[in-house]
Order: sequence, then structure tokens, then C-alpha cells
Amino acid sequence: MPKMEECLIHVDLANALREVVDKMSLRPPEGFIGLSCPACHKPVKPMKAGTTGAAAHFEHLARNPQCSLSD
Ligand SMILES: [Zn+2]
Repeated sequence: MPKMEECLIHVDLANALREVVDKMSLRPPEGFIGLSCPACHKPVKPMKAGTTGAAAHFEHLARNPQCSLSD
């Protein structure tokens, strides 16, 4: 049985991870910090809750209209 190499991450933890990456000035290529969409496995980035009332959520780095989780 293959070892588990992926798991789901909550958006709040993902945003904390993103802050660490930013503070360390790691500047990963295209902003990809290793988080993938659970549906299409394309790279995603966490977004913080907005001042306009939008809840914290993930967005595909490149918009993917084929993905069932795309908006
Ligand atoms: Zn997706």
C-alpha cells in the first residue's frame, strides 16, 4: 500500500502557512506554496476573509472552469 502523500488543509491554516512563506520572502514560483485543489489537483492559493464580508477560501492559481469546485 502506497504511503499517503496528500491530505486536506483548512483554509485558516493555509493562510497561516502563506503568511510564513511571505514573511520568509521565499517567493515560490507563481505563488504556488504546495497546495492543490482536491477536485482537479491544480495549484491553489488561500485567500483571507475580505473586509467586504467574503469568507476565507481557496482560489485556483489559474482559473479552471472545468473544475467542479471552480466558481
Ligand atoms: Zn479545482
